[in-house]
Amino acid sequence: MDVIIAGLGAMGSAGAFHLARRGARVIGFDRFAPPHTLGSSHGKSRIIREAYFEDPCYVPLVHRAFENWTALERLSDTPLLVRTGGLMLGPPDSAVVAGALASAERHDLPHELLSPADIMRRFPAVRPMADMIGVFEPRAGYLVPELAIAAHLEFAARARAELHMNEPVIAWAADGDGVEVTTTQGRYTADRLVLATGAWVNELMPLPVQIERNVIYWFRPPTPTPQFDVGTHPVIICEYTPGHAWYGFPDSGDGVKVGLHHDHPSAARRVSADPNALRRDVGDDEIAYMRALVRTFLPRADGELVDAAVCMYTNAPDDHFIIDTHPQYPQVEVVSPCSGHGFKFASAIGELVADRILTGRTTLDLSPFRLARLAS
Ligand SMILES: Cc1cc2nc3c(=O)[nH]c(=O)nc-3n(C[C@H](O)[C@H](O)[C@H](O)COP(=O)(O)OP(=O)(O)OC[C@H]3O[C@@H](n4cnc5c(N)ncnc54)[C@H](O)[C@@H]3O)c2cc1C
Repeated sequence: MDVIIAGLGAMGSAGAFHLARRGARVIGFDRFAPPHTLGSSHGKSRIIREAYFEDPCYVPLVHRAFENWTALERLSDTPLLVRTGGLMLGPPDSAVVAGALASAERHDLPHELLSPADIMRRFPAVRPMADMIGVFEPRAGYLVPELAIAAHLEFAARARAELHMNEPVIAWAADGDGVEVTTTQGRYTADRLVLATGAWVNELMPLPVQIERNVIYWFRPPTPTPQFDVGTHPVIICEYTPGHAWYGFPDSGDGVKVGLHHDHPSAARRVSADPNALRRDVGDDEIAYMRALVRTFLPRADGELVDAAVCMYTNAPDDHFIIDTHPQYPQVEVVSPCSGHGFKFASAIGELVADRILTGRTTLDLSPFRLARLAS
């Protein structure tokens, strides 16, 4: 089976790895040279958690992802996954807290309910609001995305995947049961095509997605404190007003990393950004908005802004994933739009896409992510 993969970021690199290791002849293309800082997979850390507030249907997928990340760590002899525990914080009826609890109960996941006093005792850097509670899940942590993508690509190449960096796919067409793909360098044919171009997906397959510009920030605590250390401080998602959330990581040496999830200081988040003309600088208003949240919830991190980076979410209208076979062309799979929460699943999604291409079936249910759900 010959498979062309367009896009070698989180999803495409994982697909290339699983397909090549299972004997497919893989040719992968990327418009840049992943891991890079121009798409959706940079910034040194991505949260992985299992009490999944977005929907309990993600839990089996994240369990498989944990297994696959651990296997990749072993294979590559690279630490990719750091277990810190995860704190989902907000009022009891917030989507983050109620949703995490629903997933934990449905799937019988280890978790603890924490009062504000419990939280401040366990995680002294965190200052929750009086009306908040925490759902703590001990197995959560973070992945190092650049190392994970590099490992998938390295071992895909070792399994004879041909990886063409800085060679964007500019068009594709069905060619009988297969595909013909045109890049800036030439034309290639294959039995199957995987579209994993992330925020650029609409250039190759029009989908009802919008691109959301996101900023991540690293703040250095003015006074060095072990309260943010890996091993003490958890990964956190905090819904501070309904539908508005910030997230944060321990300080692994670069400062305390924080960001906003589907939340912005001013502009409406649903104004779609252009991935080719993304504003890459960070405004003073954005920094001030983030700093105010840091000052409230992580006051000891309210020091110098040491770094910031701009990244993109590719949002489906319902903020879930689109992983499906093309409605007209069964030889084409689309695996990228992941609405700002897909990285943790990449190791499982790559495997499931390989399953579908090589066996016509998947071991886990991908039906919640079908395109048809968005038709109405
Ligand atoms: C700030 C931020 C924080 C996030 N936090 C989390 C988190 O904590 N946990 C989590 O699970 N998820 C998180 N996410 C979401 C997650 O990172 C993304 O869902 C995931 O990385 C997307 O992977 P991808 O493969 O779709 O995109 P990418 O990794 O961007 O890959 C797409 C690739 O396609 C290439 N490409 C584009 N066009 C073409 C073309 N025409 N031809 C060839 N190649 C092309 C690009 O160069 C790129 O390398 C976050 C995202 C952002 C932006």
